Amino acid sequence: MFTLVRLIAEREGYLSSRTLPEFRYSALLNQRTDKVMTVGLAYGINCSRMMDSYSCRICGQIHSGVPLSWGPDAPDMWAELSIDEQAARGELGTDQAVIDASHFFIRGRLEIPVTDTSDLFAWLVWVEVSEDSFDNMSQLWTVAGREKTPPYDGQLSNRLALYSEPTLGLKVKLHTRPVGERPFVEVVGDHQLRYEQGNGISAHRVQEIANLLNRD
Ligand SMILES: [Zn+2]
Repeated sequence: MFTLVRLIAEREGYLSSRTLPEFRYSALLNQRTDKVMTVGLAYGINCSRMMDSYSCRICGQIHSGVPLSWGPDAPDMWAELSIDEQAARGELGTDQAVIDASHFFIRGRLEIPVTDTSDLFAWLVWVEVSEDSFDNMSQLWTVAGREKTPPYDGQLSNRLALYSEPTLGLKVKLHTRPVGERPFVEVVGDHQLRYEQGNGISAHRVQEIANLLNRD
């Protein structure tokens, strides 16, 4: 049987890590939740680290304080359940979720390089994996050297409404990172996201994404 790993180690990892400061902005996370539901993401979406000020060659303006990562709080399948169903049928943590003891989800970072700054943009997305993969990840959650594990196959479990092609069900690989860091999500299915991951996006595009997600 599965068990949700309690996330103390992972959270501590984030808090002590300079490179993954998502949790520093926990106040912001809560504030953003309502607004962003209006873009068509099924559930609350969070944002975190900001891009440094950047003078844009595309629009000539300065992009500053633009969030570098965004992501929903839960897999879409979870968000579509009523509160009662959620309580009866599953469990949701910050980085793991299980529904009906048959759908297993892990939260990862779908990172996209920002070509004109040294930043990394990231979608914090949920990925459905097999029960075996989920168990394996849970067992290795706090084990040093876990990043040597081969990647796991999975499917993206969120609709990112910013993309014209569907993202739900998109094939990905989850690459384990050292203890305290979320896994890296590599897009393997044919999609604009795979292109962006391979080629990067502009700082201007990062601003555009922020504008779309903040729109009332
Ligand atoms: Zn611009």
